[in-house]
Amino acid sequence: MPALILDGKALAARVRGELTVEVGRLRARGVEPGLAVVLVGEDSASQIYVRNKTAACAQAGIRTFDHRLPAATSEAELLALIATLNADPAVDGILIQLPLPPGLDARRVLPAVDPRKDVDGIHPDNVGRLLMGEPRFVACTPFGIMKLIAEAGLPLAGANAVVVGRSNMVGKPMAALLLGADATVTICHSKTRDLAAVVARADLVVAAVGRSEMIRGAWIKPGAVVIDVGINRRADGKLLGDVEFAPAAERAAAITPVPGGVGPMTIAMLLANTVTAAKVRA
Ligand code: NDP
Repeated sequence: MPALILDGKALAARVRGELTVEVGRLRARGVEPGLAVVLVGEDSASQIYVRNKTAACAQAGIRTFDHRLPAATSEAELLALIATLNADPAVDGILIQLPLPPGLDARRVLPAVDPRKDVDGIHPDNVGRLLMGEPRFVACTPFGIMKLIAEAGLPLAGANAVVVGRSNMVGKPMAALLLGADATVTICHSKTRDLAAVVARADLVVAAVGRSEMIRGAWIKPGAVVIDVGINRRADGKLLGDVEFAPAAERAAAITPVPGGVGPMTIAMLLANTVTAAKVRA
């Protein structure tokens, strides 16, 4: 049987449609959800991400406050801006686009954001809440993946879930969410021995590595669910995931495409978190 293609583009469009209605209701009550987007430096991928996020907000009726700072911005200047945004009642959510340029330490900058405005879900307070099973804001990519899995009705309780990658933005919160959903979770990284054998035991694989097609199709257990977070651009411009798609799709029960799988859900969940922040304020 061919694998079910988990269509993140379609689900994200639906979520964004629902959010647009919700924003309309909030606005009718005089509550205007607002997201501050802070981009430091000239990173070209970051500029595209910020543009897409801002456009998605505008479409849903969420107001954005754009803050573009030069790469030479000092930590003190960035912290001063964050303090202003924390205190601004028109700002419900604050997004600091990563990576920060060299010279700015995300470990000192991100905790300065008010955790109640941390719609990216990466403030230590929100990460701690997630680990304790009491999430407030959850990092947008793993949050979107959980929604895709739930939408497809894929069972997680007792499943062997393997997360490849342990970043703070994706791998670690993903593992925490899967654990919270009663999966038996294994986290792999660059020092993992015999990755192929670990992946081959998985009922669910989440690949978040950033290396084109490194998860080979032949590793996938027949009937497994495969979630591909990777976005890797080939020299000819084509986007490739971290999973070798065609052979993996022959074995998997369900799989996300790249593009059109996880990526659109990440943006949708950023909007969802911003609307939640606005509702809490209201
Ligand atoms: P990071 O670079 O922060 O983390 C990559 C992880 O992969 C690390 O934990 C690293 O291990 C691990 N890794 C590297 N090489 C291997 C290997 N050979 N075997 C096993 N594990 C390995 O990346 P991110 O988590 O930020 O992103 C991962 C990918 O997802 C990227 O392609 C990124 O573009 C994409 N992405 C997509 C999003 C979307 O919306 N679709 C959102 C965010 C990211 P170690 O810790 O040991 O170094």
